[in-house]
Amino acid sequence: MTARITPLDPWIRQKIACPDALRRDRIESYQLQKVQETLALVRSKSRFYQNHLKYSPPTLSGLDGLAHLPFTTAEDLREHGGQFLCVSQDEIERVVTLDTSGTSGPPKRIYFTQADQELTIDFFQVGMSTFTAPGDKVLILLPCERAGSVGDLLATALGRMGAQPVKHGVVKDARLTAAWMRAQKVDGVVGVPVQVLTLARLCPDLALKSVLLSTDHVPDAVVQTIQQTWGCQVYNHYGMTEMGLGGGVDCGERRGYHLREADLYFEIVHPVTGAPVTPGETGEVVFTTLTRRGMPLVRYRTGDLSRFIPGKCPCGTGLKTLAHVRTRRGGTVTLGEYGSVSMAGLDEALFSLAGICDYQASLLHTPGQERLRLLIKTIGDPPAQLGAEIEEALNTLAAIRFARQAHAMQIQMEIQKLDPRLPAPVKRTLTEGSSYA
Ligand SMILES: [Zn+2]
Repeated sequence: MTARITPLDPWIRQKIACPDALRRDRIESYQLQKVQETLALVRSKSRFYQNHLKYSPPTLSGLDGLAHLPFTTAEDLREHGGQFLCVSQDEIERVVTLDTSGTSGPPKRIYFTQADQELTIDFFQVGMSTFTAPGDKVLILLPCERAGSVGDLLATALGRMGAQPVKHGVVKDARLTAAWMRAQKVDGVVGVPVQVLTLARLCPDLALKSVLLSTDHVPDAVVQTIQQTWGCQVYNHYGMTEMGLGGGVDCGERRGYHLREADLYFEIVHPVTGAPVTPGETGEVVFTTLTRRGMPLVRYRTGDLSRFIPGKCPCGTGLKTLAHVRTRRGGTVTLGEYGSVSMAGLDEALFSLAGICDYQASLLHTPGQERLRLLIKTIGDPPAQLGAEIEEALNTLAAIRFARQAHAMQIQMEIQKLDPRLPAPVKRTLTEGSSYA
């Protein structure tokens, strides 16, 4: 059965004043006008962009002209934070300081006006209505504590649609959260993939309507496990703070995200050359904000790799569909002549095994020998056969299989019972080096 059209469709039609069915030419003429307005705004108000766009053409004849403008990078945000602002500090309602673990220098700071935050709430309200009805009780396992935090804005959005948001915050003690979920009888959960998987493994007897996973790439194996365990449907959200927290969300077809095309313009570029890729080809996701006032961004490089799925979504919308983000630029580690391996590949192999709720992986390169170290976390005592199952699952990854067949790879595995006091969620990556961190 074909899913109903994404609620983003009528919402965007109304935002771009398009009374008829959404056509690409109508969306793109709106986007071109908004890109021009954004460029005029940053050129007149942002000290960073006044310098950054000094040698760029003053206007664009089409959206493809954006390709001649320089990118904005995470390093630019770190080095020039406040210089991006297009309003006075007094008009800033919320500043998000992003974790800089693994990088040196000042942290990234992203600034939002109240109007910017309203745009996010508006998107959350429409996006959540894809799978949430008025009256539904929705548990929010994202940071909620501060006013204007992602969980706080989401709660406001759910309240406006007549649902009952329950602000919890990220899971710190999975046992306590699981007991609490059981008592609260929630209909839906919004959270981080590995944390929600852990809860599903801890309390498999719950029945939920829907789950939205966000903030990290979402392995299919995690989706399948949660769906089968709780009898619910799992949706993916794509977003990052720089994007205004929300970027896109699955429709009922759940084959990729429909995007906030009235607020963001997305491009896919070659991750090395930066040139636009052929439509449908995989590359790095780049976006330009169309409606942000406090800190607009022009051609911001996300580091995420994805592609536009060609053709129309079966839900019937004229919006684009961005394939689910699986990996980031630099997220693939090469095993020399044997091929490459990524965290996404390991995720699919390992999360499908019963009992595994989290793991860390690091790869040590030594001359003639690769060493993959895995620290696996299980719910309860690890089953006796788990080690053998992991070996078998790893062999489904061609590069690992080839390297092991050639006696060029060792696997060091440690299986531990999960400590329910979970660490703060981070973007999970396959670390590599010539010595273990
Ligand atoms: Zn769709």
